[in-house]
Amino acid sequence: MANSEAEVKFRKDLVGVAKLCYQRRYICGTEGNFSIRMADNLILTTPASSCKGRLEPDELVLTDFDGKTVDSSGRRPSTELAMHLTAYKQRPDVKAIVHAHPTVAVGFTVAGKSLAKCVLPEVVCTLGQIPVAPYATPSTDEVSNSIADLVTKYDALVMDHHGALALGKDIWDAYYKLETLEHHAETMMVAHLLGGVKPLHVSQVEKLLDIVGVYGLKKPACAEALLSPEACTVDGDNN
Ligand SMILES: [Zn+2]
Repeated sequence: MANSEAEVKFRKDLVGVAKLCYQRRYICGTEGNFSIRMADNLILTTPASSCKGRLEPDELVLTDFDGKTVDSSGRRPSTELAMHLTAYKQRPDVKAIVHAHPTVAVGFTVAGKSLAKCVLPEVVCTLGQIPVAPYATPSTDEVSNSIADLVTKYDALVMDHHGALALGKDIWDAYYKLETLEHHAETMMVAHLLGGVKPLHVSQVEKLLDIVGVYGLKKPACAEALLSPEACTVDGDNN
């Protein structure tokens, strides 16, 4: 049966995002996995053990909401699909998920350094804070358990010694969040190299949270954590 017009577009967009992640080195080899929740909780996702930089739209896999393949391709979905399904089950508003292994963000977890600092206004307004999920053995239930709580509050997170997960209202929205996450990590790395990170002052963060509506955004669910001394500068004048 021919794919619907909507499915053809989903396939094209998913492959486009996967290629971009490969080109930008957010994934290498056969790493990473991507998914879109279509109508009736049907999941369109990337096949296991494939290079996502060379995927064709007809190589994607269709699964049910339990991760079981429902097309006739005989292809297996990624072993990390369970993590996507956990996020979809917690967040009915999420329609697409990107999982990649961006070097700088993951490097922060390898070095044991926090990314949860308010340093860039755009990140404060869009993602809020970037948390780190505890280490979990890849391809086991530990991974789903490690992200289950965080995805209720955050649209983008880093997984300790592993990768990053970004959730969106469509696959491009999820991709842009991944890009913002890695840009935040790169900026933090430069600041560390130049002598240290000086987070925004709490008063500056408060002002940003007051105006997120101007950008058509809602206050991030983690807004309270953004105002903590761990995330921003509380004493002194930071201007
Ligand atoms: Zn991974």
